[in-house]
Amino acid sequence: MDIIRSNEEDHYLDLVLQNSKFDFDGCWEYTAGLDKNGYGIATTRKLPYTSSVRVHKFVYRMTVGEVGNLLCHTCDNPACFNPDHLVDATAKWNTQDAYAKGRWNGREKRIFK
Ligand SMILES: [Zn+2]
Repeated sequence: MDIIRSNEEDHYLDLVLQNSKFDFDGCWEYTAGLDKNGYGIATTRKLPYTSSVRVHKFVYRMTVGEVGNLLCHTCDNPACFNPDHLVDATAKWNTQDAYAKGRWNGREKRIFK
């Protein structure tokens, strides 16, 4: 099955592929721009408007699927966008949140960072 992407997604994908350092056993780091927290930010002025995406969220969405609000790095490297190092923590966070609010009766008491 062909993956159909929009021009915008194609454009960001090119930016990411051309501006990153790939360690195939480790982290993939975007090098062209980081925000103050160290997350890769791809910015383009080539579209009809200036626009930017958070690289790790963008790549996760393109390779794995839709992502919630909380996408965590298992490698603690915010510039990394290797999908193997990213965990959609939204569901876990919701569980922990429910636990914190006393609505969680499960036996597992894992602290999720
Ligand atoms: Zn990593």
